[in-house]
Amino acid sequence: MTYKLVSRDYNPDDLVVDVGGVEVGGRRVVVIAGPCSVESLEQTLEIAKLVKRLGAHMLRGGAFKPRTSPYSFQGLGEEGLKILVKAREETGLPIVTEVMDPRDIPLFKKYDVDVFQVGARNMQNYTLLKELGRVDKPVLLKRGFSATIDEWLGAAEYVALGGNRKIILCERGIRTFETHTRFTLSISTIPLVKKLSYLPVIADPSHATGRRDLVIPVARASIAAGADGVLVEVHLNPEKALSDGPQSLTIRDFEELVRDLKRVAEALGRYL
Ligand code: PEP
Ligand code: MN
Repeated sequence: MTYKLVSRDYNPDDLVVDVGGVEVGGRRVVVIAGPCSVESLEQTLEIAKLVKRLGAHMLRGGAFKPRTSPYSFQGLGEEGLKILVKAREETGLPIVTEVMDPRDIPLFKKYDVDVFQVGARNMQNYTLLKELGRVDKPVLLKRGFSATIDEWLGAAEYVALGGNRKIILCERGIRTFETHTRFTLSISTIPLVKKLSYLPVIADPSHATGRRDLVIPVARASIAAGADGVLVEVHLNPEKALSDGPQSLTIRDFEELVRDLKRVAEALGRYL
């Protein structure tokens, strides 16, 4: 058995993870939005205020970026965390940001980051997972893009074993033979993982598709399949984004997304 503490057998009731007053895993469908990378104070504040006004529940932005090429923008680091804190102060939105290295955990604690995101590439970084097990903050655990469901739940088990049960799983697409999309979002994984585990499950249609035109329909499908929320990338000017521009929604797209998700949620007896 690769996991026990995170299994539905261990705890039959759905876990509701509280993120600064925002409940993930309850009847509310949560929307986490923001730029792929924190690029500047102005950019982040403006996006944060706009998505908040349109209905986002949390702000997400990367300060430490796991990039395929070491020559690509690596993120603003600590400066990015400071910017996120300012955006939280101005909007009241909890902040979600990726931690890549266990050595950065004290810095994340210093800025009181609300949700520690573990990226797909780090899903099996067991040193990081063990350290996050000792952190008293929710962990958003992305599925590795070549990880099986059991490997993903095994990774969650590492966090839980350290004492931290506040885990939010995120299906962000797996690698298949298909080339039209960046990855392939596994819709069936959403209800399946919710059967196997009591942890909340959200979907990331931005990284899964890599294409702005597919983000809204795949987000709708994810909620229809039982996801407890979505994580989407939003940019004021995607053509100019320092990372993941092609998959970033414009503010106008984001407005449409929220409108659609409200209707899907209501059809299922949930709300946004
Ligand atoms: C991200 O969230 O910006 C990111 C790099 O995602 P993933 O780890 O899913 O590739
Ligand atoms: Mn991204």
